[in-house]
Amino acid sequence: MRVREWPLRAAASWRRDDDGSKLEEMTRTIEDLIPDYLRGLPVYIPGKPIEEVERELKIHAVKLASNENPLGPSPMAMAAARAVLGDSNRYPDGGTHLLRAKLAERRAVSPEEIFIGLGSSEIIDLAARVLLRTGLQGLTSEGTYAPFSVAIRASGAELALAPASGAELALAPQREFAFDLQAIAKAITPKTGVIYLANPNNPTGSAFGREELEEFLAAVPDGVLVVLDEAYIHYAVSMELRDSEEIYRKRKNLLILRTFSKVYGLAGLRIGYAIGRPELLAAMNKLRTPFNTSGVAQASALAALDDKEHVTRCIETNATERKRLNEGLAKLGFRPVASEANFVFMVVGPEATALSDELLQMGVIVRPLGWMGFPEAMRISVGTAEENDKCLAAMAQVLSGKDRDALKRAPTQMKKGELAAR
Ligand code: PLP
Repeated sequence: MRVREWPLRAAASWRRDDDGSKLEEMTRTIEDLIPDYLRGLPVYIPGKPIEEVERELKIHAVKLASNENPLGPSPMAMAAARAVLGDSNRYPDGGTHLLRAKLAERRAVSPEEIFIGLGSSEIIDLAARVLLRTGLQGLTSEGTYAPFSVAIRASGAELALAPASGAELALAPQREFAFDLQAIAKAITPKTGVIYLANPNNPTGSAFGREELEEFLAAVPDGVLVVLDEAYIHYAVSMELRDSEEIYRKRKNLLILRTFSKVYGLAGLRIGYAIGRPELLAAMNKLRTPFNTSGVAQASALAALDDKEHVTRCIETNATERKRLNEGLAKLGFRPVASEANFVFMVVGPEATALSDELLQMGVIVRPLGWMGFPEAMRISVGTAEENDKCLAAMAQVLSGKDRDALKRAPTQMKKGELAAR
């Protein structure tokens, strides 16, 4: 059927087919097609690119705002990327066979239980797209990674947020701003389809242990999927959390997410993976784009897995520098929350945004967390020794002219609402 008329202005217009009969009333605009649950989603505010800050301020800047790996990719990963760059005229392996086989071997699961995604970000979204819809509910906590809430809402499902542990636990600093797994379990209803957890959590850096996780999972019905996002798990050296696949083997309803963006230093190549039941992964494979990850990303990820020395160096440097950054911040009068990740979260008081802006002017980019629901907090990624020194020096300089008592206040309760961070 040939369409003769296709008016761009849609109000009260219509199109005709060849015999002139009226096909359909077109009284809507393109915008009308966007469902209400998408219109209401918050706009993602990315961190300032370092080049822009440097150009604007004509200074050398350090970026401690997006929890990247300050030591860069492994040299082996870079060599692997260069070696396959010349094949970029070809589509990559859409089935990611080599990488899935290697990960399956490493994690003692079958290749059918490995899904390779365009970063773990894609997998967070796909889990909701596959399992949730209008009439169901997705559950997460206050004070966690914002894309969880976005994925739930974008599926048309209702978003439920359980309260997090807050300042009432100030006497046990390692539990501050942590997930309250019991509260999450209590919030499960017959409509709950997916629960999102990040361990360690972003933006607070807190983590739960194996026992707590097992206790929580025992309270979750088999028909509810638990997405366990372990983007920062390598940095949680004190928590003995590396064996979540053992728990996975006992549970049918766990999807474990890992990324190459953090300890492997490949954030710019966009590649991550999930371990989960083949039936769920098969459905996710139907929805993803056929060539979601590039050949360069796949080759780099394969090589990065072999560079154990680089991984160890990144973990150790992070632990040393995280301690130094914490101590430096404590000397300045702050009380950072005990972090198991590659960043530090702290409540600084009402001047959090102003302080971040002043640091920016001095070439230190940190993350004020107001837009994520923590108006009095900031998050600082752990950088190299040099970057952390620059951050602490800039912070000391900015604070020298300020009323420190206002900044030494005890942490305030988290604000209710949608919270989180990249
Ligand atoms: N999950 C958490 C908790 C994160 O903090 C981040 C990024 O900062 C991601 C997932 C996204 O990682 P990817 O780069 O693999 O998409």
